[in-house]
Amino acid sequence: MKHHGRGSIKGLSVSEISDEVEAESGLLQVDQRTLVQRTNVVAAVTVVILSILRWAIGPAVYLPVGGIAIILLCFCNGIYLARGGSPIVGARLIILAVSLDFIYGTFFSGGFAGPIVLLVPVVPALAFLLSGSRAGWIAAVVMVFSLFLLLALHFFEVVPRNPLPDGVLVIGRFIALSSSGLLVIWVIWAFAANAAVLGQRNKLLANTDHLTGLPNRRFSENFLNQEILRARRSEENLSLIIADVDHFKRYNDVNGHQAGDVCLQRVADAIRLATRRPADIVGRLGGEEFIAVLPNTDSEGAQSIAECMRQALLDQRIPCQPGKPEFVSMTLGVTTFRGKEIESSSGMLRLADQALYQGKEQGRNAVVVHLPLSQSQA
Ligand code: GH3
Ligand code: MG
Ligand code: MG
Repeated sequence: MKHHGRGSIKGLSVSEISDEVEAESGLLQVDQRTLVQRTNVVAAVTVVILSILRWAIGPAVYLPVGGIAIILLCFCNGIYLARGGSPIVGARLIILAVSLDFIYGTFFSGGFAGPIVLLVPVVPALAFLLSGSRAGWIAAVVMVFSLFLLLALHFFEVVPRNPLPDGVLVIGRFIALSSSGLLVIWVIWAFAANAAVLGQRNKLLANTDHLTGLPNRRFSENFLNQEILRARRSEENLSLIIADVDHFKRYNDVNGHQAGDVCLQRVADAIRLATRRPADIVGRLGGEEFIAVLPNTDSEGAQSIAECMRQALLDQRIPCQPGKPEFVSMTLGVTTFRGKEIESSSGMLRLADQALYQGKEQGRNAVVVHLPLSQSQA
């Protein structure tokens, strides 16, 4: 499983997703735009199909004003959204138009005796999908209130009779009820798909370091634990590298914190590019410390990868101080365990850390390997 350096799900980069989460409504807006556009299409297509069926089963005694209004509105709404209009406004327009159309259509198609009343449950469902639970409940209350009003109008006998013969009305009600059911199922499907995308994004964000786009400490440690279990089972090597940027406090003091952040991004790139196997992961432990977990890699292999990382950073030629010839470097501690000799991640991390600090003591810009006792004696 490779958590790509600058990870992405469905074409969205981590930084784009992070920006969206920072502006919380932005996250909703991106999904809502697609959702509202889809609703435009679904609403227009449904109205066209229902109008054709209505025309096919009985005489066209009146113009389907509501249906024509919905098709026109969906068309204009689609253009409005495609040209960057607010999805929230687009969503509210659809909900309003559909509610008014159903109330109007229900009244003129014979009230509770007609077919259109059976489409009413679609309105709160759409409002829940497009505008959240508050709009959903408001739409539900408005629809229930309208139905009560319609009931009262029935008692006063002011609801127009549906001119279609009974046999045709039965077919009309069958079509309306089936459409209502299908539309509600579509709403539930769209809701679930939307929730799944948000869930995936949240998962990616929870596992990603915002600054560098690398997997964060949480993901890296989970990955290490998982790989430890695998290596124990299959008696394979598992290598671990911990890298720490040299004199980074001084770099920040001299160049400023923002330059420090850019420097960390370049360090992350250098480290990431040095690992080649899809099974390897590189993560940020925190501050200026990075980790690489290399499954099925022996100590010579891990040492050479650590060396590549060290060299790749030097090759970036990031000046420590403006006008001075030294470049930013890092020190790396490496360890390799084999199969059952791995007891826990903390043992591996401790050994890699000891190697790292030996490298720091010896003058930095170095790779130091520490192996567990069993391997050093062998
Ligand atoms: P050594 O060579 O011994 O590793 O020295 P060092 O200065 O790199 O180590 P130290 O742990 O003393 O300092 C780490 C510094 O890293 C402290 C802090 O200013 C900086 N730092 C940690 N996290 C960030 C970050 O996210 N952005 C920036 N710009 N700096 C950070
Ligand atoms: Mg440090
Ligand atoms: Mg450091």
